[in-house]
Amino acid sequence: MSSKDWIEKDYYAVLGVEKSASSDEIKKSYRKLARESHPDHNPGDPKAEERFKAVSEAYAVLGDEKKRREYDEMRSLFGSGAFRRHASAGGQPGGMPFDVSDLFGGAAGGTDTRFGGGGFTDLFSSIFSGGGAGPARARGPARGRDVEAEVALDFEDAVRGVTLPLTLRAPGVCDTCHGNGAKPGTQPVACPVCQGAGVTTRNQGSFSFSEPCRNCQGVGTIVEEKCPECHGTGGVTKTRTLNVRFPAGVADGQRIRLAGRGEPGERGGPAGDLFVHVKVRPDELFGRSGDDLTLTVQITFAEAVLGTDLRVPTLDGTVTLRVPAGTPSGRVLRARGKGVVRKDGRAGDLLVTLDVVVPAKVSDEARAALEAFAEQTPPAAREHLDARVRRFS
Ligand SMILES: [Zn+2]
Ligand SMILES: [Zn+2]
Repeated sequence: MSSKDWIEKDYYAVLGVEKSASSDEIKKSYRKLARESHPDHNPGDPKAEERFKAVSEAYAVLGDEKKRREYDEMRSLFGSGAFRRHASAGGQPGGMPFDVSDLFGGAAGGTDTRFGGGGFTDLFSSIFSGGGAGPARARGPARGRDVEAEVALDFEDAVRGVTLPLTLRAPGVCDTCHGNGAKPGTQPVACPVCQGAGVTTRNQGSFSFSEPCRNCQGVGTIVEEKCPECHGTGGVTKTRTLNVRFPAGVADGQRIRLAGRGEPGERGGPAGDLFVHVKVRPDELFGRSGDDLTLTVQITFAEAVLGTDLRVPTLDGTVTLRVPAGTPSGRVLRARGKGVVRKDGRAGDLLVTLDVVVPAKVSDEARAALEAFAEQTPPAAREHLDARVRRFS
């Protein structure tokens, strides 16, 4: 953790507390977040692990009165932009003008205090007194997390649109123990290793490192008799159900965003968004290509040659299609407006692909008729191949 970290990171936002929060509020919020994001409760979730680290880092500073004062002081100076104006006059415009830790490299040497004792505050107060060094920009309460969900729709529901109840499971605070993990009637006790601080400090040479206490996993307390509901974790899985409207024509693989339907924000902050990934189950007859429905229909050789009327199903009825005499295999017929009908009335088509089937076996009568047919039919146009064929004979 460097002094640059202190300027760039908003530890209050990380812990979801106001800048004016009491040390009790900070501790409480920290314990809650540490418990929720603890790797033991989120095995194999790198996001939770990141969060746990960030929360621990923030608490190592804000949970310590002295460090918190230094942090506030530093952020009020550098967060206000006062220093940036000075620095860019020196030819380094924009952004963070330099690594602030450079400034303290000499002063900090040989002691374990980050800023060479009280020197930091004095130094900067004298440079910037009267210079617009106001409080750091306040941030609103933390926004709720985005939630991802997956829904499988029937083919016809996806074509026509459908409203479905969606049950979401999300971590929440246990109502039995109100999140402290202790059996009702008992209380968690302060961790004997870190004396309730949740962090332990280790000195190595001129540096000191703070890390989450291993004994209590950074929570600061130990539960002796576990809450029967949440087994001491303080968290339970809560379910909520909401009705989601899927518009007509929603496609497989589409992602629908429902603004503000994710997890609620903390202490009045805005809610996150809900992202619903749509899977569409295939239909046994129809396929989809955008707003067009597709259908493959087999016809006989005789039908292709002589022409016929085909009665085919649509999603809500039937339609008769004329197959003209002399239709080749693979031709696509179009039934206009029989595809996906959008809310605004625009509609796709039903595309019918004709597949001329060749019988694997024929009766003696059919064979005789076909041989008679062959005698009456000019040969297929293969003259253009002859020259190449002769090369090899
Ligand atoms: Zn509980
Ligand atoms: Zn501890």
